[in-house]
Amino acid sequence: MARLAQTAGLTDVQQEILSTVRDFVDKEIIPVATGLEHRDEYPQQIVDGLKELGLFGLMIPEEYGGLGESLLTYALCVEEIARGWMSVSGIINTHFIVAYMLKQHGTQEQKDHFLPRMAAGDIRGAFSMSEPGLGSDVSAITSKAVKDGDEYVLNGQKMWLTNGGTSSLVAVLVRSDEGHPEGTAPHKSMTTFLIEKEPGFGEVRPGLTIPGKIDKMGYKGVDTTELIMDGLRVPADRVLGGVTGRGFYQMMDGVEVGRVNVAARGCGVAQRAFELGVQYAQQRHTFGKPIAQHQAIQFKLAEMGTKVEAAHAMMVNAARKKDSGERNDLEAGMAKYLASEYCKEVVEDAFRIHGGYGFSKEYEIERLYREAPMLLIGEGTAEIQKMIIGRRLLEEYRFQG
Ligand SMILES: Cc1cc2nc3c(=O)[nH]c(=O)nc-3n(C[C@H](O)[C@H](O)[C@H](O)COP(=O)(O)OP(=O)(O)OC[C@H]3O[C@@H](n4cnc5c(N)ncnc54)[C@H](O)[C@@H]3O)c2cc1C
Repeated sequence: MARLAQTAGLTDVQQEILSTVRDFVDKEIIPVATGLEHRDEYPQQIVDGLKELGLFGLMIPEEYGGLGESLLTYALCVEEIARGWMSVSGIINTHFIVAYMLKQHGTQEQKDHFLPRMAAGDIRGAFSMSEPGLGSDVSAITSKAVKDGDEYVLNGQKMWLTNGGTSSLVAVLVRSDEGHPEGTAPHKSMTTFLIEKEPGFGEVRPGLTIPGKIDKMGYKGVDTTELIMDGLRVPADRVLGGVTGRGFYQMMDGVEVGRVNVAARGCGVAQRAFELGVQYAQQRHTFGKPIAQHQAIQFKLAEMGTKVEAAHAMMVNAARKKDSGERNDLEAGMAKYLASEYCKEVVEDAFRIHGGYGFSKEYEIERLYREAPMLLIGEGTAEIQKMIIGRRLLEEYRFQG
């Protein structure tokens, strides 16, 4: 984009990575995205290209074969990719969260075992908290792990796994009673298990079934699935970090960086909607002039551009805060909340600018219109973000009377 959503202070390396990704998006993603999306087809060629670019290892430390880049670099790449097609950023996002959780919380053996192959994109990650009966209320998880010798036996049903079919490693959050007596606070009796499996559908490992793809209104191409554990046996050394009872905190840490990522996706989709709207407004004529010359449309463009700019600035701020080693839950929550709401609004305005043509599947905005709502839900709904923001603000601005 020529003027909007620029980021000051990037290093030469960051600029080079971004320009490579932007070029890839313009040449390899945008021209094919809508066709693939309409066919709900997995973008294998695009994924292979991203693998070649090293995108799956962008934030994995160099000692494990990754590029060791910052959250900011990662978020800016995600923004570019989502500008091309949001589903592709979804393919990377859960992989990135699992790699991040391993890097932060894994045992040395777990890091050595998974991270090099994750950096190469040969192992791809999914993460799973949600169940049919819960999403926002993670503390209500009912899936269970029971210790049996050197193994755990897992039972329960999970819901809404992005990359559930195509991944070969799933980080699954379950309740584990071992060492945590009855009455322990729910978030202290949860454990993350690292579950390796074959990609695909059906019984992908004894005791583990991925039934099939959930049919969705948008965010197509990327597979979203259920996961059923029925007597699934997992060795004790596949407890993330080697100690039970820490899963809730590990997952929340992962989701926090994931929120910056969802904000970045909102920025990317909004930028694309702005690009489509501003182009169309100069081509379509009514009452003897391009609609861009009607003040009502110019006002729309002004609002859209302002929202694109504001969301980008907040997303960059949240990423930089985390990169500097500071707690960023407030900034990440704000960025995710604002970027996803603005994204929906910018897409809606671009859709309106297109008039009736926006309703036609021939126009890209039709796809964006079905994709934007997912960002209002994933990695915590707007209401959940506002709960986090509100709580943190009250901590920061405690009344001292
Ligand atoms: C396409 C897609 C992909 C997904 N991928 C994943 C994934 O990879 N892994 C994973 O674990 N999950 C995933 N999810 C699940 C997602 O995280 C949840 O859908 C989300 O957290 C909301 O949970 P829910 O759907 O159960 O809604 P609910 O929690 O039932 O909420 C319903 C409504 O009530 C509101 N609400 C809930 N509690 C409160 C409250 N205390 N105060 C005010 N309002 C409240 C919510 O904001 C929402 O509007 C995915 C979802 C989708 C749609």
